[in-house]
Amino acid sequence: MPEKVVIIGSGPAGWAAAIYAARANLEPLLFEGTIKPEMIPLGQLAFTTEVENYPGFPFGNVRAFVESAVDKARHYNLPPAPNHTKDGQLHYAVQGVELMELMKQQALNFDTRVVSDDIVDVGLEGSVHQVIPASGEPIEAHTIIVATGARANYIGLESEEKYKNKGVSACAVCDGALPMYRGKPLAVVGGGDSAVEEATYLANLKNAATIYIIHRRDQLRASKIMQQRAFDHPNIELVWNSTVEEVLGDGQKVTGLRLKSTVDDSTRELEVGGMFAAIGHTPNTAFLKGKLEMNAKGYLKWTKAFRTNTSAEGVFAAGDVADDYYRQAITSAGTGCMAALDAERYIAELGV
Ligand code: NAP
Repeated sequence: MPEKVVIIGSGPAGWAAAIYAARANLEPLLFEGTIKPEMIPLGQLAFTTEVENYPGFPFGNVRAFVESAVDKARHYNLPPAPNHTKDGQLHYAVQGVELMELMKQQALNFDTRVVSDDIVDVGLEGSVHQVIPASGEPIEAHTIIVATGARANYIGLESEEKYKNKGVSACAVCDGALPMYRGKPLAVVGGGDSAVEEATYLANLKNAATIYIIHRRDQLRASKIMQQRAFDHPNIELVWNSTVEEVLGDGQKVTGLRLKSTVDDSTRELEVGGMFAAIGHTPNTAFLKGKLEMNAKGYLKWTKAFRTNTSAEGVFAAGDVADDYYRQAITSAGTGCMAALDAERYIAELGV
């Protein structure tokens, strides 16, 4: 018997889809991925520290709740709780991994079947689809929800890797307001709308110091209106014709960047307390090339307005894999829910 719903991906979109599909008695089978650059179990939030903007999770003794809700067997996955206290109790915003473990638990509570494997191919020609895991037999499915997300592009420096979560991030909106960045000069690398948006976000935070936009050319790629916003902002300073050659730090935190000129061989050091890469994202769609319609950057196309349908019947897309615009945990969870509802209605029409 074909599966009713196979979900590929284990970020907010995947778990939200699983919760909804499971509660609709569709007995979802979810592939959570293995540790690879493409499909990361628990998605991009697995790389984030505190998540202050996911509704429903104000500061508090989050760890006590997480430990009470998440199966003890998975407590080893939980990162150490941040050391912020109030009235003698832990008092912090839910961390990315905690939030994702809570979502996973919620999906498991409704009997979602979870497989730790990557999907490497799909067959979408017949009336019943095929999903092909890296190890194991192909699986037949009436519907597929693709929720494989996207990964932020980083520059690719060893020093950048070393300081991830210690002053290097690829999401100012997620991390910029964290204590480690507060009141410090910061750098955003890139010249597109994201770079300007991230810089503007940082520059508007309370007690913001100078926010440098470091761009490899002498012209921004961002839209004119966004460019003007950057030029007009008193806290934003453009650093033209420069790339980051090295992230500098004291082992625990970022202290500066070594910049290299793109017009001559000169280098210089810039004192900053953090660096945000805003040089684009790559959607995790390589395994779907030629099977589903994508835009020029490889993001899946939603083929109906306000629906999660893709170019193949019975295949739905949720989260960042189809969205290079909002890219938030809450919007991904929202489209995950929509994809499950779309799959449920499709299956009802099929009468299976
Ligand atoms: P993007 O437009 O592709 O811009 C990426 C930027 O990063 C470019 O300026 C590029 O430089 C630079 N870059 C790429 N690789 C680099 C590297 N290895 N080292 C240094 N710099 C590098 O990406 P985006 O800004 O994320 O925007 C993606 C899409 O979302 C766009 O369509 C954008 O309009 C949209 N968006 C819209 C808004 C908004 O309207 N509010 C906000 C965010 C995003 P070059 O310019 O030299 O190529």
